[in-house]
Amino acid sequence: MMAAKRIPWLHVIAGCMSSGKTAEVVRLLTRRQIAGQSVLLITPARDTRVVPGEVVSRTGTRFPSVVAADAAGILAEVARRDPDAVAIEEAQFFGPDLPDVLEQILAAPRTVIVSGLDQDFAGRPFATIPELLARADKVTKLSAICVICGSEATRTQRLRNGAPASANDELIVIGGMGADDTYEARCRACHVVLA
Ligand SMILES: [Zn+2]
Repeated sequence: MMAAKRIPWLHVIAGCMSSGKTAEVVRLLTRRQIAGQSVLLITPARDTRVVPGEVVSRTGTRFPSVVAADAAGILAEVARRDPDAVAIEEAQFFGPDLPDVLEQILAAPRTVIVSGLDQDFAGRPFATIPELLARADKVTKLSAICVICGSEATRTQRLRNGAPASANDELIVIGGMGADDTYEARCRACHVVLA
């Protein structure tokens, strides 16, 4: 097979929890592999769903992955492995340097696929995802199904001890999710944030 031609292309996949972002990333990477491209899937260290070396979507799809602690760690992994295409999961956790780092990777050139939560639990634009959406060559916004009413869900509901969380609660609980925090997909009408 001929060496793949490298194309600079930023595709951002955004949506609430349970909207199928990981399954879509795996689909996009798999079709590139079929065409002979080398791919690299990177997850943040704080993503508690990921077992080292593998991403598993809620649909059961599995894909090999590596962990990076921060945006600089992404650059190091890309330099070490030299893939044609790079995918970043849970991109909201990679810190403010992520857009600049991804621009460097794109300039190589390489294809970059990014997935992440576009809103936090209070419905606010989340970390660098809004900026990445603006810089993207292609945007896919996925929705889930509201667990309350069954309509299209675009929001992530945070529950503390089973009750809606306050907008003033800390965004990310240090050391992972708090023991009493749960999250579920809800539509705009059923999403509740206490003042
Ligand atoms: Zn609803």
